[in-house]
Amino acid sequence: MTDESKQVHTPLDPDRLFSELDAKIAENHNLDRARIRAAYEMARAAHEGQKRKDGSPYVSHCVAAADIAVDMGLDEDSIVAALLHDVIEDTSLTHADIARQFGDAVADIVEGVTKLTRVQYTSKEDEQMENLRKMLMAMAKDIRVILIKIADRLHNMRTMAYQSPEKQRSKSLETMEIYAPIAHRLGIQKVKWELEDLSLQYLDPAGYQEIADSLRDRMPELEEFMKNMEQKIQARLRAEGIEATIYYRIKHIYSIYRKMYAQKLNMSGIFDLCAFRVIVDTIPDCYNVLGFIHDMFKPVPGRFKDYISTPKPNMYQSVHTTVIGSEGIPFEVQIRTWDMHHTAEYGIAAHWKYKMGDGAASLRGGDEEKFAWVRMLLENQQESDATDFFHDLKIDMFADEVFVFSPKGDVINLPVGATPIDFAYSIHSDVGNHMVGAKVNGRIVTYDYALQNGDIVEIRTSKSSPGPSRDWLNLVKSGSARTKIKQWFKKERREENVFRGREMLEDELRHCGLKLEDVLDDEITAPVLKRLCFATMDDLFAAIGYNGIAVARAANRLRDEYKARSERAEKQTVLDKINAAADRREQSAKKLSKPVQGILVEGLDNCLIKFSRCCTPVPGDEIIGFITRGQGVSIHRKDCPNYLQRSGNPENEGRWIRVGWAAEITETYVTTITIASKDRSGLIMDIATVLNTLNAKVRTLSSRAIGGGRALTNIALEVKNAGELRYIMNRLNAVPGVSEVVRSGEK
Ligand code: MN
Repeated sequence: MTDESKQVHTPLDPDRLFSELDAKIAENHNLDRARIRAAYEMARAAHEGQKRKDGSPYVSHCVAAADIAVDMGLDEDSIVAALLHDVIEDTSLTHADIARQFGDAVADIVEGVTKLTRVQYTSKEDEQMENLRKMLMAMAKDIRVILIKIADRLHNMRTMAYQSPEKQRSKSLETMEIYAPIAHRLGIQKVKWELEDLSLQYLDPAGYQEIADSLRDRMPELEEFMKNMEQKIQARLRAEGIEATIYYRIKHIYSIYRKMYAQKLNMSGIFDLCAFRVIVDTIPDCYNVLGFIHDMFKPVPGRFKDYISTPKPNMYQSVHTTVIGSEGIPFEVQIRTWDMHHTAEYGIAAHWKYKMGDGAASLRGGDEEKFAWVRMLLENQQESDATDFFHDLKIDMFADEVFVFSPKGDVINLPVGATPIDFAYSIHSDVGNHMVGAKVNGRIVTYDYALQNGDIVEIRTSKSSPGPSRDWLNLVKSGSARTKIKQWFKKERREENVFRGREMLEDELRHCGLKLEDVLDDEITAPVLKRLCFATMDDLFAAIGYNGIAVARAANRLRDEYKARSERAEKQTVLDKINAAADRREQSAKKLSKPVQGILVEGLDNCLIKFSRCCTPVPGDEIIGFITRGQGVSIHRKDCPNYLQRSGNPENEGRWIRVGWAAEITETYVTTITIASKDRSGLIMDIATVLNTLNAKVRTLSSRAIGGGRALTNIALEVKNAGELRYIMNRLNAVPGVSEVVRSGEK
């Protein structure tokens, strides 16, 4: 061999590889081998002349991917699609070509795989990675697309040795960050491990080698040990009457690697390198086996985990324990049923396969929420065939979300139905506000285009853009875009907003039967503005204009305030009339001159005032003056019988004069009252007691019997005004035996 020959790989013979696959497929009688072979023929013809980096015909990769799909237990369409998975991307065949011969389902899967293949990947921070994983799963829609993509990636990783160092690194990183976690999420542990170990080989060759070398050095010892342990356990279980299959293995390199780095250990510090798997028929046997193993070996405290009663989110079930073997070497034991084993090996695919195989498998436990959709589908498909099952098995975990790329390769997560406008605002408000166009996957799209998973979105901006349009508010799906658009209108378009808001409010008020002018009154607007937290009406108009406040809300408040004011105004009118009357009285009183003894006389100053004896008026009484001959003005109550009698007399015409009480009166006035009562002993004493209690200033008090057992009592007393007098009279009225209290002159 020459030096060059080291790198020369014996090219694989695809036909031989396919016959081996065909033989494997033949074991499964449900599969149509002729159809699968036809797919192989199509792929071979399409990829004719293309070579892999190792020099093998390209179609060997397709056969290998199909082989992995068969191992995963995928259905016939999946195997056909796996064989054809690269023809759309790398050959002249189209979706239609595939659909014509193998049906839409196969063509759709191949197209789905092609889309995933086209997704550009650049390593990002964790959150971006998670979004990218979700995007791929959301894009796949059909779970088979993801599973075939994983099979494709697994084979590419297996043959990565022939690629350039750069490609080895970038593909390994992508595998580690994207595909291994997806495999884990789908419960395909075996594939996940292999992907991780293959990736590690290129990402940290030295670290990988250190572990691999160390394991190789210890392998004879460990092999010997594991064989020994396996025999011991098997013997015990047989003695206990338990049928079990036991596998053992050295743990996969990446899991040892991670432990070493996480716990800062070197290889010799790594606790358990050996793992045993005991597979039994029933769940009670799982726990029985656990008991026997703990009886045989010393368990390491804190290492027992029961994933049977509490399965992992990806439906993984087993009981785990770590024990110390006879040579002092610790090892892990996983105990599970065959059901659980299939789930652990092939995840979702295993469920389908197993289900279809004997119809006995069922899902137990599991993460109710995360995989409820899988369970539901599994339960619903009992009578349907495999194709229907997979057809229905859409990945709807991210049904509310859509994942798209920025031109830089960032994954942007938006609500389903989001448009380029949502995207622009999610990048930055400025991008949204200056947006003048959008391209998706290199093509110009309209603003209402609904973004699809995996779209690469590019926003054209311009400094001279007119800014967002109000229609955009109807196109966006994300709250943050809506908020940002509103903010723009709030800030940038005040005048326009004021004008628009004013019109909107005018319209709305018209529905309430009001005009805008009706409510533009401080008395109405001030409380409304305060309530709605605006400084001025323009601010309110502006807010209505940019939809910062619902116009109906503003209109209703104004209408309510308008109504309240109208009611107040009505009340005010009445009050005004009363006040006006009072004002007029005051005015006319002012025309009167200076008061004498609390009395103002129209047109006369300092005239002599006499209070008539007949009716003894006090302030509060309506009064009238009579000009006497030589004795000044005599003051009568307007209800004085003398006045009423004489006022009509023409002889006295011109002698009655308007008079009034002064505004402030300090004097007291003598008036007289008459009490009609029973003539009883002690009556005077009782009346005197009341008057005394009330501090009434009594001038004279006389009482006389008028026959029939009745008496009249006359009292002259000083009071400030009619109110005080009325009070005193009411109290006197309550004296036992009193039938009436009247002012003199009333009878
Ligand atoms: Mn491929």
